[in-house]
Parts: sequence; C-alpha cells; structure tokens
Amino acid sequence: MPENKMLHGRIGDIYMADDKKFSEWHGIARDKIKWNPTVDASKCIGCGMCITGCGRNVYGWDQDKNKSIVARPNNCLVGCVTCSNTCLAGAISFPDKAELRRIIIENGVLARAKKELNEKLADERNSDMKSQKSRS
Ligand code: SF4
Ligand code: SF4
Repeated sequence: MPENKMLHGRIGDIYMADDKKFSEWHGIARDKIKWNPTVDASKCIGCGMCITGCGRNVYGWDQDKNKSIVARPNNCLVGCVTCSNTCLAGAISFPDKAELRRIIIENGVLARAKKELNEKLADERNSDMKSQKSRS
C-alpha cells in the first residue's frame, strides 16, 4: 500500500476497513465493544503523534483539514488509552471505562483470560522442555 494512501483515511473504503485479525477480543466480536478514540477536530493541532504512535493503524489523516481522523476504530486495543495520554492538545477521548468493565463481567472475560494464560504458560513450558532436550 503506498504510504500516502495508508495515512489518508478518506481515500477509499479498503483503507478504512478494520483489520480482520482484530475482529475478536477474548471471544467477543470486536464490533460489539464500544472502545475507540474520538478526536475533537477543534482541538487537534495535526502533530501526528497519535498516527505515528499507535501500533494498530487506527488513525488516518485528513489532508484537507490537516488533522488526524479515526479511520479504523475497531483496530483499537480494548482498554488502551495511550494516544490520549500522548496527545498534548487534549483532543482524544475514550468511552467511560465503567461500560468496559460491565462488558468484562457480563461476558465472563476473566475466566477466558485465565484459560488463555494457562494455555500460554503450557506452551512456554513445552517449548522450554523441547529446547532443553535438543541441547542435551
Ligand atoms: S496527537 Fe492529538 S493533536 Fe496530534 S494529531 Fe493526534 S489528535 Fe491531533
Ligand atoms: S488507544 Fe492504543 S490502540 Fe487504541 S488508537 Fe490509541 S494507541 Fe492505538
């Protein structure tokens, strides 16, 4: 994808689509969770910090207005607020975390997270044992 198109969130739908790899969060369809940044265009100074700092390609760039836009909201990591902390203009806001906590409780996310943790630890143990065997 050409660099200028990647940053230009209004060029076409293909660049506005959320990435499929982020389509679920602990088994919940990502589009059922309202968690993404909102940019207040009247405060945005167009510094680009949010675009260059987000590892999930959430932001795009409005070349006409020289401001950041939220191009792929569902790519946002649920619960993350990093870009809000680093926006010196105070232009980025997020939904109330109480709603997010309600979703966690009502969907049994803690139990799923624990299961995922145990699977991850088991995988790491297996991989450690394999590398020890290969060294002996
Ligand atoms: S970090 Fe804030 S001020 Fe800078 S481009 Fe993003 S929203 Fe605008
Ligand atoms: S909260 Fe985190 S993942 Fe979401 S847009 Fe900001 S930096 Fe990216």
